[in-house]
Amino acid sequence: MLLTDLASLLLPRTCPVCEGRMMPGESFVCAACSAQWPRYPMERIDDNMMVRRLWPSFPAIYGATLLAYRHHSPFHHILMRIKYQGHTRLAEAMGRWGGRELQDTALPAWTDIIVPVPLSRMRRLKRGYNQAELIARGLAREFGRPVETLLRRREGRKSQTRLGSEERLANAQGIYSAAIPQHLCGKHLLLVDDVMTTGATLMACAHALLEADPSAQISVFTLACAS
Ligand SMILES: [Zn+2]
Repeated sequence: MLLTDLASLLLPRTCPVCEGRMMPGESFVCAACSAQWPRYPMERIDDNMMVRRLWPSFPAIYGATLLAYRHHSPFHHILMRIKYQGHTRLAEAMGRWGGRELQDTALPAWTDIIVPVPLSRMRRLKRGYNQAELIARGLAREFGRPVETLLRRREGRKSQTRLGSEERLANAQGIYSAAIPQHLCGKHLLLVDDVMTTGATLMACAHALLEADPSAQISVFTLACAS
């Protein structure tokens, strides 16, 4: 048994939002936090604030997310756990939840391939996992669609985290390239990441894919989106 499995059996689980103890049967967050879950305003997946923000850059078909992201909100801790603290199961479980939430929309049938936003090889090695890949895997289990690494990220670029929105866009351009251009022809691709803030990363990824094959179509899913 892995050490992390053992730890999760022995240590009481804490809610990632309020740090309170989780009760049996509660998943992701405790019942009290779950009742206050900040949903992103999204009645339709083909026309909402998230896709509208991407449209000036590329024609995103569908856009969906689970959480309205605010930097100082305690719900932000979920993303920190996933990204920096090795909570890999939480990432995959959240992906599955997203998949279940979207089951009755057009997205599962529309999607041919689920494409996680990549980390650079160095970052991937250091962290030991790519959170976007885990989320994509969770989503894939619900959608019954494959996950493919169709994007590559160049080494040695600045992390996006500390940059302003224009700097992000400039920094993101040219970072990503299509890894297997011959797999893109006419395909419906669902780009997956943990968070969309300015959208610069998703835009740069979409551009790399569409540049490699303009016949591809792109939708996006993130766990959280800045509101
Ligand atoms: Zn809680």
